[in-house]
Amino acid sequence: MKALVKSRTGKGHMTFQEVEEPRAGDGDVLIRVAYGGICGTDIHIMEDRFPSHPPVIIGHEFSGEIIEVGAGVENYKVGDRVVAEPHRGGCGICRYCLTGKVEVCRNKKAIGYKVDGCFTEKLALPATSLHRIPDGLSLEHAALAEPLAVGIKALLERSVVEPCDFVVVTGCGPIGLLAAAAAKAAGARAALVTGMNGDEALRLPAARAMGIDYTVNIEQEDVVQRVAELTGGQGADIVVEASGAEPAIAQAFDLIKIDGKITGIGLSGKDTIAIPWNLAMKKAARLSCSFSTTWTSWERALAMLASEAIHVPPLISATMPLSDWEQAFERLTRLEAIKILLKP
Ligand SMILES: [Zn+2]
Ligand SMILES: [Zn+2]
Repeated sequence: MKALVKSRTGKGHMTFQEVEEPRAGDGDVLIRVAYGGICGTDIHIMEDRFPSHPPVIIGHEFSGEIIEVGAGVENYKVGDRVVAEPHRGGCGICRYCLTGKVEVCRNKKAIGYKVDGCFTEKLALPATSLHRIPDGLSLEHAALAEPLAVGIKALLERSVVEPCDFVVVTGCGPIGLLAAAAAKAAGARAALVTGMNGDEALRLPAARAMGIDYTVNIEQEDVVQRVAELTGGQGADIVVEASGAEPAIAQAFDLIKIDGKITGIGLSGKDTIAIPWNLAMKKAARLSCSFSTTWTSWERALAMLASEAIHVPPLISATMPLSDWEQAFERLTRLEAIKILLKP
């Protein structure tokens, strides 16, 4: 079968090549990939800005159908439509695995950079990492469950959205847009996303098409002033930082109300970021960092997608054959697409 492989470390070294077919071991299922979504992380792996363990098949956002069930798997059968959490399970013995936080296990085997991922025809995963796709939810839309689960963990499990909250999301990549839409679905009175000049063509219009109330181009407009106007001078109840940009991270403290919450979901290109500490203290800011996803965030993501509480079509710019991966990656790098699904 064909696969998109990061063949060695360094910039580039991506090859679309023949690889051996995986087998379903004990406790595993073999999945035929229907759609694989390209994530910013995949582009960072290509550019060598995110560590990977080559040679490895990349890709971690996908939907598919079970075509083989390994020994000992009782709750899934051939033909079941599934998505999967992006790891082959944690070590199973550390305090995080044992308390249901496998996503932060230091020894988890993340697919798409540590072990083989989804930009191929078939992959074998433990049945314990799966979630069933609800009836009526298409395989295309289900492929967005992972980035939506990232937003849901941040907004419903780390900083909890309360009814009528005013939510600001800084950054309008797919995760930012999905987080803002999830905030609305969870009862926020309004959501505002920020972007830059490069986002005017696609991402900010997509935000509006998804039902996000306000969009602000921070290169054209003062977002702190706009949020103050929209909140009677109070500030946002929650800021979700999904840009990773140092100025946006620092500005989150200006955007929140007193006793407001900030949740980070984006890694930054910089390891150390200057933040206004005294302002944070005086505002009694509640700061949290949200990493990856939880079992519950996946179930909620699938339920929100199935009920169309999240309107995803504006987010999906194209579905392309996996063999056209290079063109798809280029379109994303040039901000000429928001989310592209690859079909093996
Ligand atoms: Zn991703
Ligand atoms: Zn562990």
